[in-house]
Amino acid sequence: MANIKRLWRRRKKLIVAFIAAAGSFLVGVTLPVNLRADRPEAPPPAQVVAVSQLQSIQNPSPKVGKVQQAIEQRVGFSQQALDRLQENRFDSALPSQFRGTTLRQATLDSQQKAIALTFDDGPWPRTTEQILDILKKNNIKATFFWVGRYLQAYPELGKKVAEAGHAIGNHTWNHQYHRYNDSGAAREIDRTTALIEEVTGVKTFMFRPPGGILTNGLASYAQKKDYGVIMWSADSLDWRTSTQSLMDNVIRQANSGGIVLMHDGGGNRARTVQALPDIIARLRKEGYKFVTVPELLKMEERHLKQQETAQR
Ligand SMILES: [Zn+2]
Repeated sequence: MANIKRLWRRRKKLIVAFIAAAGSFLVGVTLPVNLRADRPEAPPPAQVVAVSQLQSIQNPSPKVGKVQQAIEQRVGFSQQALDRLQENRFDSALPSQFRGTTLRQATLDSQQKAIALTFDDGPWPRTTEQILDILKKNNIKATFFWVGRYLQAYPELGKKVAEAGHAIGNHTWNHQYHRYNDSGAAREIDRTTALIEEVTGVKTFMFRPPGGILTNGLASYAQKKDYGVIMWSADSLDWRTSTQSLMDNVIRQANSGGIVLMHDGGGNRARTVQALPDIIARLRKEGYKFVTVPELLKMEERHLKQQETAQR
């Protein structure tokens, strides 16, 4: 009898142990599922990001959308912005015939009336964004020549410019006017191009020398490295003149194929911001279409090809 009792007690223990084990198993299986449902999806590791971005372009499912959001928060770019950057990478590419040359403007078909607005010395707090807003309101794409150390200070502004689809050029790291040997020029130019690519994904082949100086070693280095050296045909002189006369400067010098020099950074650019809407309105009224520098040069390339074919 004592034996039977002991056996039964042992069995009871076993049953209790079994129920406990089964219970904890069930809790273990179901609980994480329930928790998982409420948890936001974690962003995939860095290497996976690129792949899922590519996939979601074709077929954005709600799940991918969720992951996408997480990626956007992490990387700071929306899918649309990434698509635009992808286009930019192509758009910032200069036609090969203009690489390694110096340009002040483009020669266009007489039927066409296009002009390129360019902004130097940014990215810069406040004024860069004000100029972006004006360009957006007017549905215009422009070209920005950045100073590397300012881009280093304000990378978020740089991202905004690139996200908005504007073309980007190199305006050296330090923006100085003295003479450079090749290794000094390399530090100014290579470092800036590398940072532009790091921040925006755009590899630029446009260089504008500070102060427009072509003889201090920077422009010649850039040409050797196959950059197009992009000067200008219309100088707003916005860094030293009144709102009214900077506007007059642009309108007076404007021509088809022209490149307009203005500034969004490097100092107080309130006058440029103030004058820009009127400049755009006046040029538009005169029939100008606004394009980026690479677009302008692609127009010239097409024009030259047409001339060639006509001559044959
Ligand atoms: Zn400058």
